[in-house]
Amino acid sequence: MRDHFEVRDGDAAGRIGRLSVPRADVTVETPALMPVVNPNIRTISPGRIESAFGAEILITNSYIVHSTDDLRERALEEGLHDLLGFDGAIVTDSGSFQLAEYGDIDVTTREILEFQRDIGADVGTPVDVPTPPDVSRERAERELATTERALSDAESVDTGEMLVNAPVQGSTYPELREAAGRNAYATDLDVFPVGAVVPLMNSYRYADMIDIVAGAKRGLGRDAPVHLFGAGHPMMFALAVAAGCDLFDSAAYAIYARDDRYLTVRGTEHLEDLAYLPCSCAVCTAHDPDDLRACPDEERERLLAEHNLHVSFAEIRRVKQAIRSGNLLELVESRARSHPAMLDGYRALLDHAEQLEREDPASKGSFFYLSGESARRPEVHRHHERVTRLDPGGTVLLTEGGMPSGDVYDAAWRVVPPFGPFPRALSETYPLTGEVPARTDRHAREAAATGVARLVEANPETSFVLAHDDWPASALSRVPDRVETELVHSGR
Ligand SMILES: [Zn+2]
Repeated sequence: MRDHFEVRDGDAAGRIGRLSVPRADVTVETPALMPVVNPNIRTISPGRIESAFGAEILITNSYIVHSTDDLRERALEEGLHDLLGFDGAIVTDSGSFQLAEYGDIDVTTREILEFQRDIGADVGTPVDVPTPPDVSRERAERELATTERALSDAESVDTGEMLVNAPVQGSTYPELREAAGRNAYATDLDVFPVGAVVPLMNSYRYADMIDIVAGAKRGLGRDAPVHLFGAGHPMMFALAVAAGCDLFDSAAYAIYARDDRYLTVRGTEHLEDLAYLPCSCAVCTAHDPDDLRACPDEERERLLAEHNLHVSFAEIRRVKQAIRSGNLLELVESRARSHPAMLDGYRALLDHAEQLEREDPASKGSFFYLSGESARRPEVHRHHERVTRLDPGGTVLLTEGGMPSGDVYDAAWRVVPPFGPFPRALSETYPLTGEVPARTDRHAREAAATGVARLVEANPETSFVLAHDDWPASALSRVPDRVETELVHSGR
């Protein structure tokens, strides 16, 4: 049991949690965004990130501090909090990124963790190997073994009250990510970054990213706080949270600002293409695109970085509210409509619906059917499991509303796409209270037919008649042959 992380509300595999960071004496509410602060370049000061944006946690690179003489001296003397001017929790990266970029760094896990401890970091990181996507299985396994040795070294370092990251690697092999997750979870380390996904996000491979996260999550316990390392675009926060990620870090807010890119929850815009600023933050209400373009470079970079940070924090708050309201998947679904690659990400998430279903709360506020993907949501899977435990007995009418000719039935159950059949007594229970468009689509009817099939297969002694409202052949072909079907318009 990891007592520094407490999971509260949940929706899909997303959760609102409380991460206790003892060294900083703060509790960080997750999902949380950690702005990346480069110790050498301060586009926005950490103090302002704290006061104006409400950041409770940030991340900086201890390797840069360690390898820059005057920064190292000052960090050791004043401590990292005074050096940066930030009172919240400070996470320090180890130089693994530099290792991946340049092939060599001159510190060991022990040295960098002791240095992080000595400069007052609140969450430290060992030197892991961020294996890029699509490498050979052999290389992924070899490098994972090195990462696992680093975790084991980290366990033997006296880190005091500092929490320690246990990165989960494994390239684009979900089963290696799962094994890495299981190994990391078995250590006594504290926070679990899923590493080396930046190349996937940069090339819009959201489906691969989701498969990797789902793999890591299968290996990690439910009480493991998960950091999606390098994920800073607000467009994908809802999706990643629904997959079970709790922490994000944004270097994007500053890097994008440097070359005039403007973040939105629907994607990235280039300032030169904007005629309007679709945002109501302080920067966007005080300026129009021409004003921004006319600003001196440094001023424009700062203003864009402030806007970028604003939309990122706003999206995190929106995601948290969606978890509270129980409509996170509706938010994911609308974000998925912003880019085909995001839709792939959402479809990949639904490939893991059974895994999500294990964490998804049994009862939430509402279920809105918004697209064919809604038919694959975990709630639909759960209902299909539930009907197999029900026994209507005798001769049963399953109806979308219409009454077939003749015959008397022992029971009449409702059929509502995408769920399928259920006794009227369950009509007021979640998710059967869900709202479905009157113009139902093929996917919803196919899912309802799967529900019928599950019920019928579980009750071999019962006779069934299905009164459907013009189901397509693709749905009717899922209904077992022994069910008598009749087309009866429900008058909806
Ligand atoms: Zn703005």
